[in-house]
Amino acid sequence: MVNYKDLGLVNTRDMFARAIKGGYAIPAFNFNNMEQLQAIIKAAVETKSPVILQVSKGARNYANQTLLRYMAEGAVEYAKELGCAHPEIVLHLDHGDSFELCKSCVDMGFSSVMIDGSHLPYEENVALTKKVVEYAHQFDVTVEGELGVLAGVEDEVSAEHHTYTNPEEVIDFATRTGCDSLAISIGTSHGAYKFKPEQCHVDPATGRLVPPPLAFEVLDAVMEKLPGFPIVLHGSSSVPQEYVDMINQYGGKLEAAIGIPEDELRKAAKSAVCKINIDSDSRLAMTAAVRKVFAEKPAEFDPRKYLGPARDEMEKLYKHKILNVLGSNDKLANL
Ligand SMILES: [Zn+2]
Repeated sequence: MVNYKDLGLVNTRDMFARAIKGGYAIPAFNFNNMEQLQAIIKAAVETKSPVILQVSKGARNYANQTLLRYMAEGAVEYAKELGCAHPEIVLHLDHGDSFELCKSCVDMGFSSVMIDGSHLPYEENVALTKKVVEYAHQFDVTVEGELGVLAGVEDEVSAEHHTYTNPEEVIDFATRTGCDSLAISIGTSHGAYKFKPEQCHVDPATGRLVPPPLAFEVLDAVMEKLPGFPIVLHGSSSVPQEYVDMINQYGGKLEAAIGIPEDELRKAAKSAVCKINIDSDSRLAMTAAVRKVFAEKPAEFDPRKYLGPARDEMEKLYKHKILNVLGSNDKLANL
């Protein structure tokens, strides 16, 4: 049993309360390898932002759970070495699909877990989430639940269509489960193909496809039912067109990849939405940078020469999200 506090990590409770009050959102960036972790920590330190390191079940299997625990501890020490005396770093399980997986993460030093029972019948979702909360809270680990189903594909999570969160269920769900935050479905979606071109319209100025707007009326109704309760948005990558273009220019083949416009995320960040999940954008940044090196320097075979530029590109992206979209810069409790 490893407690996250011994690793220098924090749970989400205090940072979410401050984020709601302050009208900004904490970035939750997924990571699978060292370069991504370095880029996230550097971006968070330089912008003085709290940050959530997110690990999916697939990423945990990919990286190895023991290595992850030391990587998280290393991330805290790295942040201090970079000059941040009091980093606020969360290690969070993204889309936990069973009590056993959540328990195992709590026992291995995670400071926050998500239990995603959103695909289950309502009463089963309540029972599963409550069971995880009862276990996690013994160790002061915070728990994110989910109501409503997001469309799209991301690691093990996949659904053809989304179902908006029913605002009539949120009070009952939050009260009976005791969860600390709630992921809701208002039209965001997993992956780089969030919308089909036929769902979008063409912006006459840029010629780009513009997706349908998020269902802010659902978010408003949820906030009215649960004033001040931390809300989470999944699937909130914006799929920057410059990365899609770069990938395609250097031999990739991404067709009509469409994300959530950053203006909509800016608006959400000012509300009770206090955690915004971004994964695909860093995958795109990394892939674009690696492809560019491979295309321009086909003789290159030192991984540092293509993963290094990929790391720089991701760091740039993370900083942009923090500074220009989520507004979590300069929000550490002890600056
Ligand atoms: Zn998700």
